Amino acid sequence: MSAFKADWQTKSLELQQVFTISRSSRTHQQNVFLSLSKDGITGYGEASPNSRYGESPESVTRFFKDFPFEKLSGIGDLDSLENLIRECSGHDSPQSAKVAIEMAWIDWWAKSQNEPLWRLWGHSDPKGPVTSFTIGIDKPEVMQQKILNARQYPVYKIKLGTDHDRELIEAVREVTDKPIRVDANEGWKSVDQALKEIEYLADQNVELVEQPMHAFMHAELAELKKHSVLPLCADESFTGSEDLSEIAACFHIINIKLMKIGSMAKARRVIKEAHKMGLMVMIGCMIESSLANAAGALVALDAEYADLDGHLLISNDVFRGLEVLENGRIQLANGPGFGVTKK
Ligand code: MG
Repeated sequence: MSAFKADWQTKSLELQQVFTISRSSRTHQQNVFLSLSKDGITGYGEASPNSRYGESPESVTRFFKDFPFEKLSGIGDLDSLENLIRECSGHDSPQSAKVAIEMAWIDWWAKSQNEPLWRLWGHSDPKGPVTSFTIGIDKPEVMQQKILNARQYPVYKIKLGTDHDRELIEAVREVTDKPIRVDANEGWKSVDQALKEIEYLADQNVELVEQPMHAFMHAELAELKKHSVLPLCADESFTGSEDLSEIAACFHIINIKLMKIGSMAKARRVIKEAHKMGLMVMIGCMIESSLANAAGALVALDAEYADLDGHLLISNDVFRGLEVLENGRIQLANGPGFGVTKK
C-alpha cells in the first residue's frame, strides 16, 4: 500500500477592499492549504483559521505537523476518517485544520474514482441555493459603490452593528431595492434595541437578520425570537457543539460554517438534525478560496440558504471552477472531487 504524501503552505488571501464588521477590520486572511497525494492523484484541503475561536495559521500548521498522515492509507470511508481525526485531536485543536484534512481526503477519494463529489454524495444536480454577496461596514458612499460594483448578485448581506445602522441602510436603499440579509455580528446590546432595529429593517425588504446580539445572551435571544418580525439566524451562537434545541429556541435559521464545525461529515448530520427541529439551514464561510467554498457548496446542496462569497471577495483566488449563476445560485463543476482546479 503506497502512503499519502502531505504538504501544506500558508498563503495570504488579499481582500479586494478593506473588510469591516462590527468587531474588526482587515485587509487579508492567512489560510493554510493542504495537499494529499497518493498514486498520482492529489486532493486539496483548506483551513481558514479564525482568531475569534483561538486559531491561527501557526496552530493549524502545528496540527498538520503532528498529524499521522501515514495512517490515512488505511482509511476507506468517511466514518473511519472522522474517527482518526478525532483520536488525533485535543479540545483546542483547530477546527479549520481538521476540516482541511477531511476535505483533502474526500477530494482525493472522489478523484481516485474520477467522479464529482456531488454525484458520489447522491445529488442529481450541482446547483445549490442562492448565495448572498457581503458588503462590509464602510462609509455610506463606499458601501453604495461596493453594491454598484457587485450588481450581478441578486441578494446582498449587509454588515451592521454600528451606532449609525439606519444611515447605512438608507444609503444602501438609495442604490438598490434588491433583498438584503443583515448581519449584526452581535452588535446590538439589548432586546429593545434589537427589536427596534428589526422593525425598521422589516420595512426595508430585509430577508433575515443574522446574530443580532451576543452569543452569550441566551435568554435575551430567546425573548427576541418571540417578538421578531424577521427570521433570525444563528452564526456566532453556533460553533458546532451547541445543543440544537437551544439554537431552535432562539433562532429560525442556523448558519453552519465548515471552518467552525470542523467536519463536512458532521455538517451533513447537523443539517439533518436541524431540519428535524424545524430550523432552516444556511451554509456560510470565512474568507476562503474557491476550494473551501466548493466544499461548502457541496454541503449546501442540502441547505436552504448559502452565504458562500469568500472567494468572490479576494483578489488572488488560488483555485477556479466554482460558479455563481446569473440567478445567484452557486454551482459546482462537473470535474472530479470538488470540481475545482489549482490556478
Ligand atoms: Mg455572520
